[in-house]
Amino acid sequence: MEQTRNNAKKKIAIVGAGPGGLTAAMVLANRGFDVEVFEKAGVVGGRNAELTVGGFRFDLGPTFLMMKFVLDRAFEEAGEKSEDYLEFKHLDPMYRLLFPDFVMEVTENREAMKAQIARCFPGEEAGLDKFFDRESDRFRHIYACLEKDYSSLTDFFNPIFLRALPYIPFGRSIFQYLGNYFRSERLRLSFTFQSKYLGMSPWECPGFFVILPYIEHAFGIFHVQGGLSEISAAMAKVAEKHGATIHLNAPVKQLLIEKGAVKGVLLEDGREVLADETILNADFAHAMETLVPPGILKKYSPAKLKQKKFSCSTFMLYLGLDKIFDDLPHHSIVFARDYHKNTDDIFRNLKLSDDISFYIRNSSITDPRVAPEGKSGIYILVPVPNNSSGIDWEKEKPRFREMVLDAIASRTTLGDLRPHIEVERVITPAEWGERGVYLGATFNLAHSMNQMLYFRPHNKFEGLDRCYLVGGGTHPGSGLPTIYQSGLIAAHLIGKIYGQ
Ligand SMILES: Cc1cc2nc3c(=O)[nH]c(=O)nc-3n(C[C@H](O)[C@H](O)[C@H](O)COP(=O)(O)OP(=O)(O)OC[C@H]3O[C@@H](n4cnc5c(N)ncnc54)[C@H](O)[C@@H]3O)c2cc1C
Repeated sequence: MEQTRNNAKKKIAIVGAGPGGLTAAMVLANRGFDVEVFEKAGVVGGRNAELTVGGFRFDLGPTFLMMKFVLDRAFEEAGEKSEDYLEFKHLDPMYRLLFPDFVMEVTENREAMKAQIARCFPGEEAGLDKFFDRESDRFRHIYACLEKDYSSLTDFFNPIFLRALPYIPFGRSIFQYLGNYFRSERLRLSFTFQSKYLGMSPWECPGFFVILPYIEHAFGIFHVQGGLSEISAAMAKVAEKHGATIHLNAPVKQLLIEKGAVKGVLLEDGREVLADETILNADFAHAMETLVPPGILKKYSPAKLKQKKFSCSTFMLYLGLDKIFDDLPHHSIVFARDYHKNTDDIFRNLKLSDDISFYIRNSSITDPRVAPEGKSGIYILVPVPNNSSGIDWEKEKPRFREMVLDAIASRTTLGDLRPHIEVERVITPAEWGERGVYLGATFNLAHSMNQMLYFRPHNKFEGLDRCYLVGGGTHPGSGLPTIYQSGLIAAHLIGKIYGQ
């Protein structure tokens, strides 16, 4: 058991100003700790940073904000109100699903959603009521588990987890599990494609994650005016308001380790910064490979990490266009003609499909701040294999870009975007890798049950003393709400040690 340590103003070093690191920074700063954040990039936010191309503002990564109440709690724990910093927009209808032969508008409104199901899948609409009746209890129990710390086996077998056990559909994938409510494969896909948020296939993603479609339908999804990157910018502001220092362009070269405990960080510029506790927000697997001197780690040594399962990657296309396309909603998901084969190509065959699924975000129809007047920025995300595939992206990039633009022309109302492109930016899995994302696996360690809860890297790191982990590669997982939760858990654990 960790002793309560002396409570003079304690120094906390945080490696990385992504959403996890910023959550911990603002909460700990508000609790009176001396917080210093070291961020290698010139901006805060990590994968949640803003990407500016010409006069167009894109979100580099996250575009769906779910479970806004977790973000609100993080701000409350930092003594602030999220609404004072951010302008939220509740999006309903939530998104459009484009199948090869029909389109479904997905809404939070239960009756309107049933009407959509009745139109697209006649006779299946009653399944929706059953889904809500049964899944609210499951959500309550499972989400309570995700809020907990799993630093030790005793923490694992806590009453909250034990009460949730009967609600965990062990041995069934989310796709199989949705068979409890819907017969049609496509309707089940409409409630399970959310596994892609975790970078997993619906046929492999554990039934545990049936909470994802429930969360969307029960609590809705949000946009933040200016883009979701505004969240990270606001968190940085709050952290600084409470006294934290955020150093940009300050890459950490290595953790300073003595007798198995982290005593601070060594910066690339040669400076040593000593700290009472150190929090790692850098991509977990990449940090283990690069920031810890060889021979120290056992459970998460580079060789052991190679045996873990990682998420897929994403091919990104950010387009600045010369007009606004008002017939496409804020979020659209286009399903491959053969979704099963496309998913197998991404996760099993590790090759590029010629029949792709993709996501399009057309934020200009909701938000005038993201593009010059009369113009729009369109963000396209294509799930593709991670870098264990060995795909040569230098070679594939131009061909794949053309294929994505052709698919947009043939599968959506946008038509051929080529004549409208003013500026563009592509990010391939190879670039994600260069940005410090292990294997370019944009959603981190996969969320298989043997890599969840106690079996995911603990927030109080089991490999090194005085070291805490936050971010998508750690417990509870890789979406924004769970990442905020990781920051809260780490801050609570540190607060407890010092009685703060
Ligand atoms: C394309 C994409 C789309 C996504 N969409 C969604 C979505 O819609 N909704 C959702 O909830 N989630 C989404 N996610 C997942 C997740 O929310 C984001 O990836 C999130 O930004 C991850 O946060 P993080 O705290 O793990 O750290 P990161 O965002 O990875 O930040 C880590 C930070 O550490 C810094 N760093 C790394 N090494 C060092 C070092 N040595 N020294 C100093 N600093 C260092 C990095 O520069 C970075 O700023 C998406 C992710 C991607 C990539």
